[in-house]
Amino acid sequence: MSTCPTVGSTSWRADRLGELPPYLFVEIDRKKALAKAAGRDVIDFGVGDPDMPTPAFIVDRMADAIREASCHRYSPAIGRRDLREAVCRYFVDRFGVDLDPDTEVLALIGSKEGIGNLPTAVINPGDVVLVPEPGYPVYTAGTVFAEGACHTMPLSESRGWLPALGEIPADVARRARLMYLNYPNNPTSACATKSFFEEAVAFAREHEILIAHDAAYVDVYFSDPPPSILEVDGAKDVCIEFHSLSKTFNMTGWRIAFAVGHAAALSALAKVKANLDSGPFGATQLAAIAALDGRTSPPVREQVEVYRRRRDILVGGLRKAGWSVRDPEATFYLWTSCPPGSDSMSTASRILDEADVVTIPGSGFGACGEGFIRFALTVDEERTAEAMQRLARLTW
Ligand SMILES: *Cc1c(COP(=O)(O)O)cnc(C)c1O
Repeated sequence: MSTCPTVGSTSWRADRLGELPPYLFVEIDRKKALAKAAGRDVIDFGVGDPDMPTPAFIVDRMADAIREASCHRYSPAIGRRDLREAVCRYFVDRFGVDLDPDTEVLALIGSKEGIGNLPTAVINPGDVVLVPEPGYPVYTAGTVFAEGACHTMPLSESRGWLPALGEIPADVARRARLMYLNYPNNPTSACATKSFFEEAVAFAREHEILIAHDAAYVDVYFSDPPPSILEVDGAKDVCIEFHSLSKTFNMTGWRIAFAVGHAAALSALAKVKANLDSGPFGATQLAAIAALDGRTSPPVREQVEVYRRRRDILVGGLRKAGWSVRDPEATFYLWTSCPPGSDSMSTASRILDEADVVTIPGSGFGACGEGFIRFALTVDEERTAEAMQRLARLTW
């Protein structure tokens, strides 16, 4: 978008907005809109937003809670204590980690908000922030808004999409204050082992860096449960971790999430938030308690089984069509290399032009995503199978 409101010759647009990386999905968005307008039957694997409704028991709790007068007033900026206690129960049960509900848990209005506000809370202008690439764009945006300097940590398939911490130059490590990590990973679907987290915690300790681990997909997995970085001994001294109800419970529109870990870092983030917002809607917090307490109930477990069935159709179909794919173990993404000789933009464009199937070109997540495309498992089984038949007809 090049237009913005102007008064006379004044452009009401701060220079820092120009520092944001360019939005690279423009071309695919444009083609998708054209195809839909032309009445073509588009199958869209581009959307990273669950297509299924929030489980009924959570909606029911919300419906009751909305009548509770206590929910109609401002809630504490750090979140209701009963929600923070539910987070502590979840953490012990799922990860075996004890948290203090008063100092080590902070409610968020979606984790994007917390991830984006964090640099304002913990870095000074010019401080280096270590950002993985390919990765979720909010790590860079939050850093830019706080006038930090992003240093890219390239992720590659050969290293299992984990950053090579030993390759971070010494002067960069010295100036770095914050490092973002994200496992299970969007867009690559890679998982981190506990031993990688141990290495990261040791690195953060040595260089006095705060790690912000984005665990949005920690409960969307198909085999072994992915760990929390807080399972590492002493991690609370150098780490915070972002969790979200968005993906696990199909609650992206509800805006409810939380951060846990290092008390002083959370208190700094809470200070920024207390000056900008006023805690999530109380009824949403009561619904979140029901969700966390019911996370192993059948309707929640069934969500993952739906993704597993779709994944199997997608993986099987792509292999049959001659693509080499590995089974994602977590997240609802499939990240696969492009056919030999095609870059990610031309692959995604051809699939859209010739098969009416939308995917996301990896280069949109940064240069290190070149050579890959991402499918989201947010399309039902029948349509996924249909898309695979269309792809099988393309020759590369
Ligand atoms: C979806 C997502 C989030 C979570 O977003 P919310 O703001 O909690 O809805 C965070 N990180 C990544 C990598 C995501 O894909």
